Amino acid sequence: MIGSKKYMDRLREIPTPFYFYDMDLLRDTLEAVTSEAGKYGYKIHYAMKANFNDRILATMKKYRLGMDCVSGGEVRRAIECGIAPSAIVFAGVAKTDEEIRYGLEQGIFSFNCESREELEVIDSLAGAMGKTADIALRINPDVEPMTHKHISTGKADNKFGISYQEVDQVIEELTELKNLNIVGLHFHIGSQITEMKPFEYLSLRVNTIQDWFEQKGFHLKHINVGGGFGIDYTDPNAHPIPDFASYFAVFNRNLRLREGQTVHFELGRSIVGQCGELLTTVLYNKVTASGIRMALVDAGFTELMRPALYGASHRIENLSASGESLQVYTVAGPICESTDVFARDLPLPITRRGDLLRLMSAGAYGRAMSSNYNLREFPREIFSDDLN
Ligand SMILES: *Cc1c(COP(=O)(O)O)cnc(C)c1O
Repeated sequence: MIGSKKYMDRLREIPTPFYFYDMDLLRDTLEAVTSEAGKYGYKIHYAMKANFNDRILATMKKYRLGMDCVSGGEVRRAIECGIAPSAIVFAGVAKTDEEIRYGLEQGIFSFNCESREELEVIDSLAGAMGKTADIALRINPDVEPMTHKHISTGKADNKFGISYQEVDQVIEELTELKNLNIVGLHFHIGSQITEMKPFEYLSLRVNTIQDWFEQKGFHLKHINVGGGFGIDYTDPNAHPIPDFASYFAVFNRNLRLREGQTVHFELGRSIVGQCGELLTTVLYNKVTASGIRMALVDAGFTELMRPALYGASHRIENLSASGESLQVYTVAGPICESTDVFARDLPLPITRRGDLLRLMSAGAYGRAMSSNYNLREFPREIFSDDLN
């Protein structure tokens, strides 16, 4: 049994909507990911945009993960949490001068650079500060991640990374940029990837790109293959911990590493996704003119945006029902937008006002993406460790 079911007596007293985190599951997941990565000496940077709650970050630190940041605010938070700057990578297509200067002052592990112009800017800012910037080139490998188009980042025409067709030119220019120290290559092809093939293609593309650099006399110390490993949103109870063994094995089988190279990963969703869920109460039931049965709940896309943003779906369970017959529902929230719907045509046990529902697999990109649109309050976060 995962998540809130174990703690129902305590949770029933807490006003909804709120996030609940099963910290035992988070620790078990961290045990799994660190031990599987450890087999090959792989380094993991937690992608903190998935969930930047302090308690979650403190747990990541306990397991000695580095951090993957995508804004100056995230770099600052990582440092405040006691993460060593030497374990922080900083990506982002549009870093401001201020963010770059802050990263330089702190001496982060690497700026993952996403355009030629950015390289020039970092070079000049570093020069002005009398520093050398450690950088990795984020290369867009044009790999099809076989996932939702809004969460693909490694196809040729999206905004991320330096086009692999520009690599030759960038290598030429790099020799002119004296304040840059190139520590490696960076890739990230998308998110919620559950097939192994895209990671295999990525590895093969990395091998080719490495050859180009080698031919030009560049030795790269680090290869960062990003994150994007997916979780089972359909049946989280059956797969609470992703199959990290198979995931890392794909890279181990396919990456052709050079002497002394270290491989880095940036995992977000696969680490925190399953440990979190959103609890919400049914406020009203109604039937539309065409006969659609609606369960209206007290959480909306202000608390969990993924369904409205990407058409994502989360498993919904009625924690108050006890094995009654099923009926088909549309589960919708209170926000004044018609996209504020969590599920359509969903069979659920007969649902009544006051029933407690849980939206599972909401630990990643859940609370982190919440807003106070409609002047709603941010949802509370409850931790299993406090209920024991
Ligand atoms: C978002 C992001 C990640 C993490 O993606 P997940 O799908 O949560 O593993 C890793 N690297 C970069 C650069 C990202 O933007």
